[in-house]
Amino acid sequence: MGLIRERIAIDLGTAYSIVAHEKSKNFWRVPSSIAFHALTRLPVAYGEAAKEMAGKGSEKINVVRPLRDGVICDFEAAGQYLTYLVNQARRNPLALQVSVLVCVPWGATPVETKSYKDRIENMRTHVRLIREPFAAALGCDLDVFSPEGCTVVDIGGGTVEISTIAYGHMIHCSSLRQAGNAMDQLIADRMLRTRQFEIGLTTAEEVKMARGSVASDPNIMEEAFEIFGLDRRSGFPRRTTITSEDIRGFLEPITQTIENKLIEHINVLPPEFRSQVESKGIYMVGGGALLRGWKIRLERDFGIKVNIPEDPQLAVIRGMQKVLKHRSRYKSLVKISESEMTN
Ligand code: ADP
Ligand code: MG
Repeated sequence: MGLIRERIAIDLGTAYSIVAHEKSKNFWRVPSSIAFHALTRLPVAYGEAAKEMAGKGSEKINVVRPLRDGVICDFEAAGQYLTYLVNQARRNPLALQVSVLVCVPWGATPVETKSYKDRIENMRTHVRLIREPFAAALGCDLDVFSPEGCTVVDIGGGTVEISTIAYGHMIHCSSLRQAGNAMDQLIADRMLRTRQFEIGLTTAEEVKMARGSVASDPNIMEEAFEIFGLDRRSGFPRRTTITSEDIRGFLEPITQTIENKLIEHINVLPPEFRSQVESKGIYMVGGGALLRGWKIRLERDFGIKVNIPEDPQLAVIRGMQKVLKHRSRYKSLVKISESEMTN
């Protein structure tokens, strides 16, 4: 009898991670946080419980997020967090080993990539890697082995990765270290600079998610709304009124940066892939795809058709789930992902 092995996929994210089990269709979303006791340095809480401790300001507890800008910055914490996720996700008590598929951004350096395997693997957890753009494309139901190619834009918290994949290989990948978090920062900065009105990053993110857009939609009535913050002039907390157009204006520098990067990406593609973009359009995934107006804007200004799958934030984990299910079909993608090449 061979070794009984259980397989799990984890989309390690900066703010949240998403876990999938080969035997389940459901996903499980957990804050990427781990709380350590300050003196013993032993973990005391993980996930939601750890995230809640972060705001409490206790001197005895340090809350750590193992990832920054989409890549692991604290391998010790990442290893412990991964072990926690694996233990929670396990279903088969007879399995002697767990094989964990972990995603890595295309833009991770060879040293970072090697560390993923070497430093978070242990006796019972065998780590396999898949590059995020491959998983994202599979999660959009695209055929990554076709000669025509497909182009996917992933707008996450810390990075935007734009990739064109064909023949099971990366044709070209462009990345930006400015994404969702930078948008929140921009909203907070602009509120302060233009109105002397102070809001926290959490409020800025809420405003972005509820009202943010990159183009106005003639089918949506935009109403002014109120936000709560601190009036720097009087020093008192109060409400202020703001419009969706204001937010769009605040976000414009980042929207344009992303748009320029996309156009630059398309322009350097070999002609056959450029014409594929012209005929089929691009696919947009990640939380940032949920900003309203991408389809309108890119179609209007550049004639680019934008496809956004349902639940774009789950595209990567859906793709990883496919890799778990059809291991031999996607073996080459894992092999390429683990070789240290990037471009
Ligand atoms: P990552 O893969 O980097 O962990 P995600 O793909 O989960 O990131 O995306 C997280 C980002 O998406 C955050 O910056 C979050 O604020 C943003 N986001 C989530 N929902 C929305 C929304 N409805 N509108 C705009 N941005 C959103
Ligand atoms: Mg992501």
